[in-house]
Amino acid sequence: MSEPLPSPDEALTPGLYLVATPIGNLGDITMRAVDVLRRCDGVACEDTRVTGKLLKHLGISKPLWRYDDHSEHRDRSRLVESMRERAVALVSDAGTPMISDPGYRLVNDCRLEGIPVTSIPGACAAVVGLTLSGLPNDRFLFAGFLPAKDKARREVLEEFGSIDTTLVFYETGPRLLKSLAALREVMPEREIAVARELTKLHEECRRGLGDGLIAYYEANPPKGEIVLLVGPPEEQVASNTDAEAMLREAMETMKPSQAAGHVAKATGLDRKTLYARAMEFKAE
Ligand code: SAM
Repeated sequence: MSEPLPSPDEALTPGLYLVATPIGNLGDITMRAVDVLRRCDGVACEDTRVTGKLLKHLGISKPLWRYDDHSEHRDRSRLVESMRERAVALVSDAGTPMISDPGYRLVNDCRLEGIPVTSIPGACAAVVGLTLSGLPNDRFLFAGFLPAKDKARREVLEEFGSIDTTLVFYETGPRLLKSLAALREVMPEREIAVARELTKLHEECRRGLGDGLIAYYEANPPKGEIVLLVGPPEEQVASNTDAEAMLREAMETMKPSQAAGHVAKATGLDRKTLYARAMEFKAE
């Protein structure tokens, strides 16, 4: 089941190593991540200051190279070429590389050039938020950041709103209220979770409908990093007209109380209300 870690002095096989780093709590770095960072020849990263701090905390000193997917093609080719002889780790400022972060062009180029790629898994805010929220997670759709512009944001929500699954977005404090307002408009009945500052001191996961969450965050402006989750649509509750037809049919063979119970169970509607309606039918 488990592979022992090789000796810290042993050189890594040349190639690209995708290394997940913590999203807040430094204790979340994995032993394998530390091992690769210790034994690699250099680290490609988003921001050399952020990664420099992490390496310093780990007592590791390595050459750092700034990388993003928009870097010149020439620079990327040079980096890929160097991986024929060097082991290069790719890290993001936080979390798993490529999850709303740079890297996929690099991985794609490595694959095309036959350079070995290894992934060292670890923290990812979307997964932490999903597990903490308690929303159904048998399937989910991760959609990165919502667009900043109102019209585009609404269009994205309308597109995803028809999909029967939990939706997971990355969000920022300053934009949260706008996104909650758009959600209230586009999918007012769906449960929302705001997972904030995950793995950090002020971690919070607040669940509710759009109205309640908007009132809360208007009074308590949200700070820090946020994962916004939207539960799947509830099963369609039968319309009142459908329920009345079912009730009439049930009353052909059942007493009003039995018929109300039967229809309440089948539709999810309130039993007492159905019983009152059944008595009205009886009196007609
Ligand atoms: N690659 C990262 C990952 O694996 O989670 C995500 C990088 S993305 C540029 C940054 C966004 O991730 C933040 O704006 C926020 O939405 C989310 N995020 C990152 N860390 C978080 C945390 N500790 N708590 C809540 N959300 C976080």
